[in-house]
Amino acid sequence: MTADAPPAAALDLLALSPHPDDAELSCGGWLALAAARGQRVQILDLTHGELATNGTPAGRAAEALAAAAALGVTRAPCLGLPDGGLRADEPDHLAAVVQALRRLRPRLLLAPWVEARHPDHAAAGALAERAVFFAGVRRYRPDLGAPTRPGRLVFYPQRQEVTPSFVVDVSDSYPRKQQALACHASQLGPGGAPTLINAPLGLEAWAVRDRYWGAAIGVRHGEPYLIRGPVPLADPLTLADGPAPVLVPAR
Ligand SMILES: [Zn+2]
Repeated sequence: MTADAPPAAALDLLALSPHPDDAELSCGGWLALAAARGQRVQILDLTHGELATNGTPAGRAAEALAAAAALGVTRAPCLGLPDGGLRADEPDHLAAVVQALRRLRPRLLLAPWVEARHPDHAAAGALAERAVFFAGVRRYRPDLGAPTRPGRLVFYPQRQEVTPSFVVDVSDSYPRKQQALACHASQLGPGGAPTLINAPLGLEAWAVRDRYWGAAIGVRHGEPYLIRGPVPLADPLTLADGPAPVLVPAR
């Protein structure tokens, strides 16, 4: 390797999670599937979730570690950015994510879709886009590590209506996703003050979402994802090999 060769990828998949349960809720099936295939997978929380209606940051951190273990993945130390104050145009927030990308060097980065209801989720998606760009800029903050860039940024929507770029068949890993969600008892379980995610039908709504997208591709459970631009295919015939492709009409 020459001195100028880019560093090898250290992770296959890194999922940015604005709060310590978003990655599990949105892409837990894919993460568990990837881990079961022997791929190197990590979740990185941007905040401790200290503004949550229920639970404490320490309790949530313990739940998050248990959830990652249930998925078969690891969890990077939380970046500790402010819950409720994530900003894509805040230089310190950009630097924190660039430093993480240069340290963890994922082949593929997952982040929330930018059109999200929660301002932190929308900001996390936009922050991820900026960080992917600047992580590869040699003269941007060389003190934060050697320049590198994930090969692909994939966005995960939550419960908003989207037309996904693709749907991942997560039928086989779905029990692990459900185990991971059960670990987040302070957020998703009964007993706390009512919120959008723990209220009656909260978890059931996610199960319906995943069942709906599974049905859209002819399998039991699916998770929707978005990328900028069209999905590149080297050989379109591979579409014939996977789950039955059911094209979602564009809106
Ligand atoms: Zn969140």
